[in-house]
Amino acid sequence: MLIQRGGLKVVAGLGISGVAAVNFLHDQGYRVAVTDSRAVPPGHDQIPAEVQTSFGKLDQDLLLSAEEIVISPGLDPKLPEIQAAIAKGIPVVSEIQILRRSTDKPIVAITGSNAKSTVTTLIGLMAKDAGKKVAVGGNLGRPALDLTKDDPELYVLELSSFQLETTSNLNAEVAVVLNMSEDHLDRHGDMLGYHTAKHRIFQGVKKVVFNRDDSLTRPLVPDTTPMQSFGLNAPDMNQFGILKDNDGTIWLARGRERLLKSSDMYIQGTHNVANALACLALGEAIGLPIDSMLETLKNFKGLEHRCEFVKEVNGVRYYNDSKGTNIGATLAAIDGLGMAIEAKGGKVVIILGGQGKGQDFTALRDSLSKYAKVAVLLGVDRPIIEKAIEGTTTLLHAKTLEQAVELCQKNTQPEDVVLLSPACASFDMFAGGYAERGRKFVAYVNALN
Ligand code: ADP
Repeated sequence: MLIQRGGLKVVAGLGISGVAAVNFLHDQGYRVAVTDSRAVPPGHDQIPAEVQTSFGKLDQDLLLSAEEIVISPGLDPKLPEIQAAIAKGIPVVSEIQILRRSTDKPIVAITGSNAKSTVTTLIGLMAKDAGKKVAVGGNLGRPALDLTKDDPELYVLELSSFQLETTSNLNAEVAVVLNMSEDHLDRHGDMLGYHTAKHRIFQGVKKVVFNRDDSLTRPLVPDTTPMQSFGLNAPDMNQFGILKDNDGTIWLARGRERLLKSSDMYIQGTHNVANALACLALGEAIGLPIDSMLETLKNFKGLEHRCEFVKEVNGVRYYNDSKGTNIGATLAAIDGLGMAIEAKGGKVVIILGGQGKGQDFTALRDSLSKYAKVAVLLGVDRPIIEKAIEGTTTLLHAKTLEQAVELCQKNTQPEDVVLLSPACASFDMFAGGYAERGRKFVAYVNALN
């Protein structure tokens, strides 16, 4: 027999996390309703029959009758229907808030402009390999409220700025903002708004990890909060960083102690060394043994669509970085690959473009001038990108991704690299998002000869 508790919980926006929220609240005995602007929202058939539904538009009356609104990350709290509810004093919270309220188990909380999924997956594996009963999800993979079913002893959560906007006092065991570069300015207004949303992750935090190379990741927390840092430089005592041998060997290190050669990891590029160091710092904060973490690092193969090697055709290597959906990610890819092929005279041929999300693409100029021989431009914000990077390298245009791949092949010679790292979202051309864009790229590349 379920107990009917309190007033009505209204879930705004269905989709994957909305479905998890509806089911979780319903299982907890709350009265639940859901509204979505789509007539047939995804997941409409995965919720209990007794849940009231109102689809086709955001139902203002329903929202105003809520005791609390649980907002899906895809919905902007600035929407007039949500603002009207806020004006009436109705709390609007994320599904992460509901999770925090429902469990006292420790949470490892991860955000940042880039590397969230890589770091979340890797620290999740480290915890698992060290014998912890861990549940991993949030903005990646399974929605947070689904994870409670596993009854884990530890949660590892990837959190987006959208989820953090409506989360207060997360009280994470350890939290990190991995890095900060421009993204989602179309929704947060400016860098300050974006920064403020991200730093909500530190509210009530017990331990902090920050990135020494990016001052925007360092939080203002009470002096008594233990802080650990990582960075791509020599670490002070007890910090994580890198040490270099005279022969150029790069070591992941803690203080003076050399832990692992970067070449002993499958994941490549200096950005991935930073990601590995971030995981070591997070793992230390939750008491994972260092030897076990290093073992996990040696076996981790990385994730699909993140600087993923596809194939070599006639001496040219092709990389799928479709998840490079902002300038920070694309810079890491151009610089990482560009530096690696520079000595042999290789250059980068890059496919750029899609939905630009209000970013300032002039930030790509230096890296393109240095490492790129051609940029093939694609997608709706092509003119904006062209204007921003004119004069840095040869600019070509393509109507389709297939055509872009052909143009890339025509403009390469052995030792060059072809890189899909668009610095943009993909929804103007691919309903299935970056994953569809990446899969299609891989298919076109595999068809080359
Ligand atoms: P997120 O979940 O934050 O989007 P991902 O791990 O999915 O992060 O990686 C997104 C993109 O960022 C990929 O293009 C990846 O190659 C790139 N990337 C990974 N780590 C870093 C880093 N430390 N700095 C900059 N870019 C990175």
